Formats: sequence, structure tokens, C-alpha cells
Amino acid sequence: MLLEEQRKKIVEIGKRIQSDKLVPLTFGNFSIRDFETGYVCITPSGMPYETLTPEDIVVVDVHGNNVDGKRTPSIETGLHCAVYRKRPEVGSVVHTHSTFVTAWASCNKEIPSVVAEVAALVSGKVKCAPYRPCGSKELAEVTSDCLGKDDAVLLGNHGVLVVGENIDTAYVNAVIVEEGAKVAYYAQHIGDMRVLNEEECAYERESAKKGYGQK
Ligand SMILES: [Zn+2]
Repeated sequence: MLLEEQRKKIVEIGKRIQSDKLVPLTFGNFSIRDFETGYVCITPSGMPYETLTPEDIVVVDVHGNNVDGKRTPSIETGLHCAVYRKRPEVGSVVHTHSTFVTAWASCNKEIPSVVAEVAALVSGKVKCAPYRPCGSKELAEVTSDCLGKDDAVLLGNHGVLVVGENIDTAYVNAVIVEEGAKVAYYAQHIGDMRVLNEEECAYERESAKKGYGQK
């Protein structure tokens, strides 16, 4: 099977993504880019995550053309591919409709960086791309533009898109942005929320790029 390891990894993440409550039902989609072939392995459209097998994962080229797999790929394949074309270093894209990020996106509001983990992913705040219909070329365009060099962006009235050098990082980033959205929501309600300033955000972003943790 073409890119068997990557397809197995997507199945594995699919099982986690529901137990971590990042997506209800079949919402959301995620993909891995294989840097050797340039191909993208992506979740199929509208299939329950718990039933997925490696054969269900679709392999496409970076323009969304089918390379391998019998299933119809996610309707957001164009969005994933647009991000891969603009960001050659990105190895994985995760798109979810988790509750708190979607609440901010539904107000078309940027999420302020109140915690270091969020500041490490974006330039100051998590921006919000304007609403465009699901699966449309326009959505792919405005979202990949708004993402720019950041690692997370909201999709207006829809959800969030998060990237990483591999799927483990992208997945962790999706959890961080959801948690950050939740904390910012509660902090705003407590009152006098202190947002990290430009210098503090820049420091967190820079130190994250240098990397931390085990080498
Ligand atoms: Zn979506």
C-alpha cells in the first residue's frame, strides 16, 4: 500500500481526536504530507473516525488530484493542499470544529494570546479568516492567506485550521488553540484579562521556533 505508515498514523489520530473531544461526529479533517513523494494522505469525506482503516485514507497530490485510494477525500482537500503549496515546511494540517475556537470564529473575533503556548504558535493573536462556504476554493484561498506564517488560523463561522511539521505537532497545536480559546473566554468573563504584549508574544514565538523538550 502506498504510504502505509502515514495512512496508519491518520487512523490512529482519528481515534484520539474523538476521545479528546476535538471533533463531534465526522466533523473536521486532517492530513499528512510525505516529504519524499510530495503526496498528501487525507481523511475520507463523511466517514466515522472509529471505523477508519488505512485503506480508507486517500492519497492525493499537492493539487488535490487522486493518486491512491477508493474513497472520496475530505471536502476540504483543496484547503489542505492550498496550505501545503504555500508552506513548504508544513508536514501536517489539522482542521477541527472544537467548541471554544468555533465560538470565537462565530463572532469573527481573533483569539488574544493570554497564555504562552498560544503566543508560541502565532504572531500576536490567532487571526480569523472571513466566512466562505465549506469546501469552496474561496475558503481555501482566504484561509491559507490569513494563516500566513502562523501555525493556527480561525475560519469565520466554521472552526480552526492548525499546522505542524508533523501530525503529532499539529495535533498538539490543535489542543493548545482550543485550550487557549477556552482560557481566554473564561478570563474575559472574570474581567481585566491581561493580554501578552507584542514583545512577550514575539519572545514566545521565537523560543518556540528554537524548540524545547527532548532532542
Ligand atoms: Zn470544517
